[in-house]
Amino acid sequence: MSNYAKSIIAGDREHVLHPTTNLFEHRENGALVIERGQGIHVYDVQGKEYIEGMAGLWCTSFGFSESELVDAAVEQMRKLPFYHGFGNKAVVPTIELARRLKSMVPFEASKVFFTNSGSEANDTQLKMIWYYNNAVGRPEKKKIIARWGGYHGVTIATACLTGLPAFRGGFDQPLDNILHVSCPHYYRDAEEGESEEEYADRLAEELEQLILREDPDTIAAFIAEPVMAGGGVIPPPRTYFEKIQKILRQYDIITIADEVVCGFGRTGNMFGCETVGMQPDTMTVAKQLSSAYMPIAAVIIPEWMYEGLVEASADRGIFGHGITYGGHPVPAAVALRNLELFEERDMMSRIRDVSPHFQERLRAFADHPMVGNVRGVGLIGAVELVASKEKRLPFEASAGIGQFCDNRCIEHGLIHRFSGNAALFCPPLIITAEEIDEMFKRFGLALDETYKWARETGRFPG
Ligand code: PLP
Repeated sequence: MSNYAKSIIAGDREHVLHPTTNLFEHRENGALVIERGQGIHVYDVQGKEYIEGMAGLWCTSFGFSESELVDAAVEQMRKLPFYHGFGNKAVVPTIELARRLKSMVPFEASKVFFTNSGSEANDTQLKMIWYYNNAVGRPEKKKIIARWGGYHGVTIATACLTGLPAFRGGFDQPLDNILHVSCPHYYRDAEEGESEEEYADRLAEELEQLILREDPDTIAAFIAEPVMAGGGVIPPPRTYFEKIQKILRQYDIITIADEVVCGFGRTGNMFGCETVGMQPDTMTVAKQLSSAYMPIAAVIIPEWMYEGLVEASADRGIFGHGITYGGHPVPAAVALRNLELFEERDMMSRIRDVSPHFQERLRAFADHPMVGNVRGVGLIGAVELVASKEKRLPFEASAGIGQFCDNRCIEHGLIHRFSGNAALFCPPLIITAEEIDEMFKRFGLALDETYKWARETGRFPG
């Protein structure tokens, strides 16, 4: 390793506290430091090339070298590097971006509120809904229902929504008005012989029982990712949202679509809710909104909610919510250019052309002796490893299967990610059929080596 690479890696270890990282392992082993990107590839400080099979964190739809987005940022920085929207100020790109977003979403949208991150945007969703329900005279209607396995962020409120143990353990979870229902994981949780539709009936029944137990007048909203991402790429069972939303409507409960990962083409439609038959009342978007070239997220709300907020403001004065960089002109200009490029390059057709190949290659792993389930839609998917195919037996976390396989992938020049025992794939949307082949070829090598090691060490009974 060069002295340059050594000193960078040592510097990272010495100075940086990493997000969502095993800090003990980081201190022992250091980090993989990425220095540059080109297309779907990134390169570490030693110059080694990797296919980025996760589009970073489910976000760089145009890969790592889209100069149009760089130009949009530079141009806007030269013109106006910062201004804000507090107290009746506004900036041009933010207005244009809001207009465009409203025209894209599959519901009657009225206004768009901007934040820097998906977490802040989902936090805003909750605050707005609470504020709205106070404004319209139902202050008791405040509880929010999320799902185990869902990921909605890490702020105090959104970490309470997030239903994944790693993001909950050790942090106090102070909000008792957040409730959870089951993760809709057909492969893991369906009973013997139960069809997807019957399973969806059962989940809808569970939701209704929870609502009745808690009292419908106390429940404000239900939040869901159309396809669960961080929890293991879990598309819902057939008819799930149709059944769930029938109940939500019956009890006057708002549906929040968390489109932070699924939004902007990922599942083969512009929004994930269109893929899974979900009809949102409000929506959160982030990540692919700007291809992650600049941090930006948004909450998109309907007219009736906006009217409630306006009325409350007439009473109280200012709508007391907003962050310094919310609607920042530079990320807004980049996001706007990103959405224009999406249209100019007919990305939806491109995604629909290449997705069948991605799904076919993904599903080919189903025959592997250590693979229990393969699932996905569009350009997102997962390969779930099991200790026994017949019994659907998951590996214990202590077996370290994901970690071993991840390390082998890195050796073979592939960055992707494990959630539990599920290997996740969510490449940049610009990926070609040849690059898909190469990505899965590298994963296949790593998987075979993991299988061999698991057999040799008695982790896989065989
Ligand atoms: N919602 C979903 C579905 C996500 O996957 C994420 C992040 O991965 C978030 C919200 C939080 O977004 P951020 O990390 O930008 O705060």
